[in-house]
Amino acid sequence: MKLTFKKKSFSFKLSSRVDNSRRTYKYKSGWIIKLENIEKEVGFGEVNPLRKKDLDKCQIQLNQIPKYINSKNISDLIKSFHPCIQSAINSALAEIERKIVFKENYYFNEIDQTAILLNPYSALQELKLLLNNKLLNGKLITIKWKVAIQDNTSEEKILIEILNHLTSNIKLRIDANGSWKREIANRWVDILKDIENIDWLEQPLSTDDIEGLRELNKSIPIALDESLLKYPYLINEWDGWQIRRPSQEKNPMHLLKELKDKKGFRSLSTSFETGIGRRWLFHLSSLQLLGPTPKVPGLALKKNPDSFLFLNEAQDIWNQL
Ligand SMILES: [Mg+2]
Repeated sequence: MKLTFKKKSFSFKLSSRVDNSRRTYKYKSGWIIKLENIEKEVGFGEVNPLRKKDLDKCQIQLNQIPKYINSKNISDLIKSFHPCIQSAINSALAEIERKIVFKENYYFNEIDQTAILLNPYSALQELKLLLNNKLLNGKLITIKWKVAIQDNTSEEKILIEILNHLTSNIKLRIDANGSWKREIANRWVDILKDIENIDWLEQPLSTDDIEGLRELNKSIPIALDESLLKYPYLINEWDGWQIRRPSQEKNPMHLLKELKDKKGFRSLSTSFETGIGRRWLFHLSSLQLLGPTPKVPGLALKKNPDSFLFLNEAQDIWNQL
């Protein structure tokens, strides 16, 4: 298939900053790419690396893709490129070949349809506000708390307070973003192991300590996130929870297949994509909810600014860019 390749860069400021134990996100930038064949069929993709330092590398590699290229050659060319470029091109190819057909609308805007990302510096206060929110009316909601940001003694105290306030309609996810040593992780697992409202403890140990993570997973559900990005082979080996990020994986079609095959223990997570990449998040999250282990995705939709970049229609975003 003969293709025309085009790219446009984007940049936006999150509606409020997002802190984790490794970095702070305030701005996101990247590229929207568009493939078009001679029948005028189009496919869009988004290059949106999590780490800012990867942008230069992506820029250089994107400049190596010629404007006129066929589908076989572009697939071969990108094999050594940054995973986010591979993700974008493979997404666009899948769309043009109609291997994925997006719906016009997806419904994830209600408070109970996506995990609520707490501000790590006021997690307890936010939880109390949620508990007093009459609109919730007993709905099952999921909160996510990023830890290993303040000192551990303070965070353990907050944990005990949070656990004291958890009602049966609230699920808790805790994410250490790979920052704990085994000693601290063991302390948290000891506190959490008999708590029913825990969805999972996410990446408590460094990406490389797979053995330690396996050991913890025997006591409470451990979700891998950063380890999966560094060691994608773990997708086939880790039988606990997996945090999956279609915009950071080389080919999101693999995840689409896994979900269609009803593989469980996969949960979708945003990397703060525009409306282009969000179509994959929505589509895959809808499938996840129909699978054997339904869990609301982590979409952080409230972090999106009010901008054309978050329109539902990909072509509209492209036209205004
Ligand atoms: Mg995470």
